[in-house]
Parts: sequence; structure tokens; C-alpha cells
Amino acid sequence: MTALVFTQTDRTRRIGDEERARILAEPGFGQHYTDFMAHATWRLDEGWGGAEVIPFGPLTMSPASAVLHYGQEIFEGLKAFRHADGSVWTFRPERNAERLQRSARRLALPELSVEDFLSSLRAAVAADEHWVPEATSEESLYLRPFMFASEEFLGVRASHKVEYYVISSPAGPYFPRGVQPLVVWITDEYARAGAGGTGAAKCGGNYASSLLGKDEAAQHGADEVLFLDSETHTSIDELSGMNVFAITTDGRLLTPALTGSILEGVTRESILQLARDRGLEPVEQRLVMSDLLEQVTSGEITEMFACGTAAVINPIGEFRAHGGTWTVADGGSGETTLALRQELTDIQYGRTPDRHGWLTRL
Ligand code: PMP
Repeated sequence: MTALVFTQTDRTRRIGDEERARILAEPGFGQHYTDFMAHATWRLDEGWGGAEVIPFGPLTMSPASAVLHYGQEIFEGLKAFRHADGSVWTFRPERNAERLQRSARRLALPELSVEDFLSSLRAAVAADEHWVPEATSEESLYLRPFMFASEEFLGVRASHKVEYYVISSPAGPYFPRGVQPLVVWITDEYARAGAGGTGAAKCGGNYASSLLGKDEAAQHGADEVLFLDSETHTSIDELSGMNVFAITTDGRLLTPALTGSILEGVTRESILQLARDRGLEPVEQRLVMSDLLEQVTSGEITEMFACGTAAVINPIGEFRAHGGTWTVADGGSGETTLALRQELTDIQYGRTPDRHGWLTRL
């Protein structure tokens, strides 16, 4: 199959320089969008085609588009970072490309090659270079590739027409309070994913089903919700948008094994490597919540944190559940947690050598 070439004909910017400067001064997260987006279409009989970069704007689609009824949709999330010399880089994008392929297989959507995925990012960021925040800030351009069933058809089967887009959004801190320990609610009512389901895919439905859990967390004064396995409700899976880690006094870094019901986070994989580099022993296994809370109480677990592209690494200071409240150590930000966060962001922003070859220049 020939590689996609994303061509741009209309270069008219949507947002003026002054407004862009105002937005970049305080971007928030997921609130503002750039001037352009990349797009391609897949048809059953033709494969991928029509690659283009077009002005960001509303989509026109049939109310009978399959995605609006059956949720055949997947997405990715990664960031573009500006380095001190002005160059723009992204972090392990091939991992996001491969995960999009796995998600596509699970949702019966067509796969996009790693090469075409990278081309779409390059084209989107080239058109919107002026939207990548300066290197002096801990800000980035968040890239959101996504794919959905666009065929106008109300039968339940895989769509014969699919759209792929990359939209971009300047990003400040994911949590408005910045890096502060999270309060996490453990839900025993809702599950995010079950065996044989779509938990390991990055599909919209997983997030829709997490929303009530998030509401429940907010009602208990928590920032985030932790989902347990759906079968026994005893072992931990992940937060609604982040993987979870614990550090023990004897130098182990614990995280739930990839059982098919949690997302294989790119940040998770990178942290396992950085932890190994600094002499911690990564342990991927089933983690029973009650054991974990006992270890938190006894002091055997000294730090816990959540991680993902958007929030990077965020300490967990406290767990709440119907049965009580558990404070992790002194409820503050753990030393190793903050050191891992610093190391990861130093690599991303080019402030330290990229010894694992994780960066790709856009
Ligand atoms: N779990 C879920 C459910 C997520 O949505 C995310 C964010 N993509 C993650 C974990 C973390 O993945 P990553 O480190 O690749 O962003």
C-alpha cells in the first residue's frame, strides 16, 4: 500500500496572533484548538486515501453515521514538546501508533500504518508549529488522533467508511492545582472493563462508562476514581485515564499486570524502564486492593502515584472508600515519585540525554 501524503491547500489561520498569544499564556487542558487538523478517509473497497490538512472546524456528517449509534470509535493522546533550540519533538509516537492499531483491531476499525500515523502527526504539527508552546514553560501541544465509523447505515456491523483526524490543543497542567497529591476514590459499584471486553483499547465507550464512577468520586471529595477488576472487585485495574503504581520500602515498584482490562500506558512502560535504571525492582502482577491498603497502613508502601501522557506523574496522597480513608505516608508527594516525574519531563523537553532513544523529531 502506498504511504499517505497529507497535503495542505488552505493555509488561512483561524485565530489571530494576539488571541493565540492570549491562549498560550494560559492554555489550560483541552479547551483550545489550533488552526488546522489532519484528515484521511478509509473506504472498504479503496483503503486509506484523501489525506489532507484542513482548517480546524465543525464536521458535517449524517445523523445516521454508525459512530453516533454504536460507538465504533478509537483515539490516541500524545504531546509535542519544544526544546530550547526551537525544535519540536514527540515522545515514543510509534507506541501510540501501535496502540491505535491494537484498538482498531478490537473495534473492527481499519489499521493505519505506523508510518502513516507519524506522517499525520508531522503534517498536523508542521501546519500548527506556531501553536507549540515555548520551551521555557512546562507546556506542550497535545495531539489527539482519532478514528470513527462514518458510514450512513443503521445496521450493526463494522462500518464500510471511516474517518481519521488529528486535532491539536495547547496544554498546560492537566490538574488545575498542579502537581499535588490526588485523593482517589475506590469504587465498589462501577467497573470500567471486563474479561474479553475493550479495557485494553482506547475507545470512547470505556470513558463513557467511567463517568459515573468519576461523579461518585467527586461526591466523596476525591479527584479521581480507581476501578477494581470487574469479576471479583478485589484487585486494582487503573484510574479512568491513568495507570497506578506503588513503591515499597524494600525497593519494589508495583503496578497491575496487563491483563487485557487495562490500557497499556506509554508512560507506564517508560516508568518501568526508568525505575529499573535507578535500581528499583519493577513488579507487574495482580495487586489486591485490601493487601495494598494494609501495606499503606503499615508503612510498607511509602509512595503511590498515577501516570499518563496528560498528567505525566501525579502522587496519590489518599484513598477513600465506603470502608474508610487511607493516607499514603504523610499524604504528600513522595521523593521517588517526584524524581521520576522530573526525569521523564527532562527527557521529553530535551534537558537530559535521551538515552533510550524515546524522542522523535517532528
Ligand atoms: N489508562 C487509561 C484508561 C488512559 O486513558 C490513559 C491515557 N491514555 C492511560 C492509562 C495512560 O496511558 P499513556 O501513558 O499512554 O497516556
